[in-house]
Amino acid sequence: MHVAVIGAGLGGLAAAVAADRAGHTVTVLERAPALRETGAGIGIMPNGVLALDALGLGGPVRAQAGPLDSDGGMRDRHGNPLVTADLAAVQERAGAPLVVVRRSWLHGLLADALAPGIVLTGTPATALYDAGDHVELRTGGGPVHADAVVVADGAHSRLRSALLPDHPGLAGSGEYAARAIAPAAPAGVPLPVGELVDHHTGDRFGCLPLADGGVYWYTTWHGTAPADPADRHRWLRDRRSGWHPSTVALLDATPAETVHVVETQQLVHPLPTMAVGRVALLGDAAHAMTPDLGQGACQAFEDAVMLGAVLDGASAAGVPAALRGYDAIRRPRTSHLQRECRRMHRLLGLTGWRGRLRDALLRRVPSALAVRSLAAQYRFDVRGSIAV
Ligand SMILES: Cc1cc2nc3c(=O)[nH]c(=O)nc-3n(C[C@H](O)[C@H](O)[C@H](O)COP(=O)(O)OP(=O)(O)OC[C@H]3O[C@@H](n4cnc5c(N)ncnc54)[C@H](O)[C@@H]3O)c2cc1C
Repeated sequence: MHVAVIGAGLGGLAAAVAADRAGHTVTVLERAPALRETGAGIGIMPNGVLALDALGLGGPVRAQAGPLDSDGGMRDRHGNPLVTADLAAVQERAGAPLVVVRRSWLHGLLADALAPGIVLTGTPATALYDAGDHVELRTGGGPVHADAVVVADGAHSRLRSALLPDHPGLAGSGEYAARAIAPAAPAGVPLPVGELVDHHTGDRFGCLPLADGGVYWYTTWHGTAPADPADRHRWLRDRRSGWHPSTVALLDATPAETVHVVETQQLVHPLPTMAVGRVALLGDAAHAMTPDLGQGACQAFEDAVMLGAVLDGASAAGVPAALRGYDAIRRPRTSHLQRECRRMHRLLGLTGWRGRLRDALLRRVPSALAVRSLAAQYRFDVRGSIAV
C-alpha cells in the first residue's frame, strides 16, 4: 500500500516512520527546498517519549534526559514556588522521563529513521482528490497516487481548510513567545527549572537545561515588541529586570539574532473529524494548540503511533475504516488537551487581583496532587488506547 505524507515537520516525519514500520511504501512531500526545523528547543513530555519508544526511537531520546536534581513547576517572577512537582516522581509514575532537546536534533533523528528517497523536498502538495479507491495529489512535480494520505502540513494547513471548509481554522492568541538556547547555564546563578509567571503583566519565562550543558529558555508577553532583534533583546532585558536573576543572565548569554519569535496560535475549536475518507489529519494540522502544556509535538507523536497501528495489516480497501478508527481513538484525547491548553492559557495570563488570587490558590496545591495530575496527563498506552 502507498501512504503519502504531506509535510516533513516533526509530525509528518513521525507519521512516515510509523507507516514505514507498518510495512507500507511511504512518500513524504515537503514544500521547503530543504529539511529544517526552527524554534530552538522542545520539551518532550513523558507521553511523547513513550510514543517515540513505540516508533523505535525512544533509546536516543531517553539518552538525552538531563539529571533530575530539582523540582519543576511554576514560580512567581522572583522564583518563589507557586506549585512544584518532584520530577523524579512524575517520571516514575508516567513511565518515562521529560526530555528537553534541540529541535534540529529531534528532526534529524526522525529524518534519519527514513531511507533516502522517501522525503521529497521542494515538492508542495497543492490539491488532493479522493477518487474513492485511491487519492490523487497534485504537487509541484507530477501527480502522486496514494492509497492513504496523511495531511501534516502544520497549523496553517491549507489542505485542512479544503477538506473541512466549514471549520473556522486558526486564531492567534495575542501572546508572543521568544525562544532560544543559551550555550551554557550562567555561572553562579541558580536555574529555577520550569516556568516563572508574573501577575503584574501576564508575562512568563521558562528555562529547561539540556543534557549538553545548554539551556533552552522561552519568554512570553502580550502586545507589540520591537521588530529589530537587537532592539527586541534590549526591550526583553528591561522587561525582565526585577525578575529572578537567571532571566536576564540567560538573555545576556544568548546572541539576539538566535532568538526565534512567534505569536502562539490555536484552532478556534477542535475539528469535527481527523479523518475524511482516505485522508487523515495529524499534528498541528489536526489540533494546533498553544504551547501552554508542551503537548503539540507530543500529540503528533501519539497520532503517528496510532496511525501506524491502524494501518498495520490494513489493505487498500480497508483504509477508510482504518482511518475512522484512528479518528475515534485520537480525537477525544486531542480535543481534551486543546480545551485544557485554552484553560491553562487563560489561567496563566491572569493579571491584577485575579492573578494574585491564582497565585494564592496555586500555593495551596499539594505537591503530591501536582505529581498525580501531571502523571495522568502524561500517560500513553498504545495497546490500551487501541482497545478504546
Ligand atoms: C513557542 C512554542 C513552543 C512549543 N513548545 C513545545 C514543547 O515544548 N513540546 C511540544 O510537544 N510541542 C511544543 N510546541 C508545539 C510544536 O512545535 C508543534 O506542535 C509541532 O512542531 C508541529 O509539528 P507538525 O509537523 O504538525 O507541523 P509543522 O512543524 O508546522 O510542519 C509542517 C510542515 O509541512 C510543510 N508544508 C506546509 N504546507 C505544505 C504543502 N502544501 N505541501 C508540502 N509541505 C507542506 C511545512 O513546510 C512544514 O515543514 C511549541 C510550539 C510553540 C509555538
